[in-house]
Amino acid sequence: MKNIVILGGGASGMAAAIAAAEQADSKAKVILLEQNNRVGKKLLATGNGRCNLDNQVIAPECYFSSDRKTMAKMLDCIADADPLGWFEQHGLLHRADEAGRIYPYSNQAADVLNLLLHQMEKNQVEIRTESAVSAISAHKNGYRITLADGQTLTADAVICAMGGSAGPQFGTDGFGIQLAQELGLEVQPLYPCLVPLKCKKSQISGLSGIRVKADATLCDGGRPIRTETGEIQFTDYGLSGIAIMQLSGMMKPNRLRRPEIYLDLFPQLSEKELLTLLHRHKRALGSANAAAFMTGLINRKVGLAVWKSLGLGDEKRSTATLDKEEWQALACGLKNWRFTELENTGWKNAQTTGGGISLSLLESGSFQLKAYPGLYFVGETVDCAGSCGGYNLHWAFGSGILAGRHAANLINP
Ligand SMILES: Cc1cc2nc3c(=O)[nH]c(=O)nc-3n(C[C@H](O)[C@H](O)[C@H](O)COP(=O)(O)OP(=O)(O)OC[C@H]3O[C@@H](n4cnc5c(N)ncnc54)[C@H](O)[C@@H]3O)c2cc1C
Repeated sequence: MKNIVILGGGASGMAAAIAAAEQADSKAKVILLEQNNRVGKKLLATGNGRCNLDNQVIAPECYFSSDRKTMAKMLDCIADADPLGWFEQHGLLHRADEAGRIYPYSNQAADVLNLLLHQMEKNQVEIRTESAVSAISAHKNGYRITLADGQTLTADAVICAMGGSAGPQFGTDGFGIQLAQELGLEVQPLYPCLVPLKCKKSQISGLSGIRVKADATLCDGGRPIRTETGEIQFTDYGLSGIAIMQLSGMMKPNRLRRPEIYLDLFPQLSEKELLTLLHRHKRALGSANAAAFMTGLINRKVGLAVWKSLGLGDEKRSTATLDKEEWQALACGLKNWRFTELENTGWKNAQTTGGGISLSLLESGSFQLKAYPGLYFVGETVDCAGSCGGYNLHWAFGSGILAGRHAANLINP
């Protein structure tokens, strides 16, 4: 009997296994190899345990890739495969939140995993856990897979779904991408994506734990790259929150020469309108030092941090002593609070992997390597990373479904 071997039991691997087994019916055996002692470990942690599995609006702008044209084509193919519809057909009830993010109706990631496990059992997918893949090579009309314990198995088709380097605590250490490099495939440089950012310590001193709503703009040497709106969380190392994580996706290695983030704490007002508001606030409060002036206007610690960053003096300085230029500077500073020396906080904190196998090496409709018939790379192994909001799982499930179906048809035409 022919067989399809899936390397990696994460989101894309499990979807690929089910899609392949359903399509191949009883004509081929589907084997899934996972190095952890269980499949779907990362899936359980997604969406803070709720699994944001898709989004109502999918568009190329929601993804980071160095080959946007091919990525858009692949997204169209994934749209045809309709991962959410596929989940519905397999018995998952779901709902969307106010931002269009889709979660299982039960709000439990475990529910999604259990459904996938049920479907794999129903379709007789053989799951082998504690099976770490260590090599793959071409063999006769298929491939030979070597496991870390020395065992080997041959396959008519192989789907590499070993994820990227993000979240190594869940079993993903970039090995799938390393394997691709060993096969001579071009790989775009990897970088932690959807990750909090470190910044110059003195800029966030005393702010840890505070959250503000703001527009955050990533700039390169003063040139705006992208703006995200949302809640910014100050930590003891820098900035976090969804808006910051989204901006981290634009921080591809060597792309930006001098990345900086500017926070606009009053995005709904122009600088002129804010200046008017500051004067009105001063009149309402009467005589006030800087610390008292922030009352009723903005989080006091945040307001004072902006004040100090502008060199306006300490918190005891009376606002009555500010001249026209200094009021102007305060209005400007509250709308352009600058954070420098940005650095990502590493793979452990990253939700996904930027970079990966070049998309042009793959067939858009199947994720099969053009140079290696019967060998597929899916999910986070390839050069496409989604924003926060269910985009990564949409990509992972969709690419898995496409590859699984194609592999089954390939070995049983
Ligand atoms: C904390 C966290 C929360 C997230 N929340 C969301 C969310 O809500 N929505 C969203 O869209 N995305 C979310 N993501 C991103 C999303 O989980 C991933 O992009 C997605 O799981 C990638 O799927 P994948 O199948 O490519 O890889 P993975 O799901 O990472 O699976 C890869 C599997 O391969 C296995 N493996 C690796 N190497 C080997 C080997 N040598 N041999 C055998 N097996 C191996 C791993 O153990 C793992 O099980 C989150 C990520 C994290 C870390």
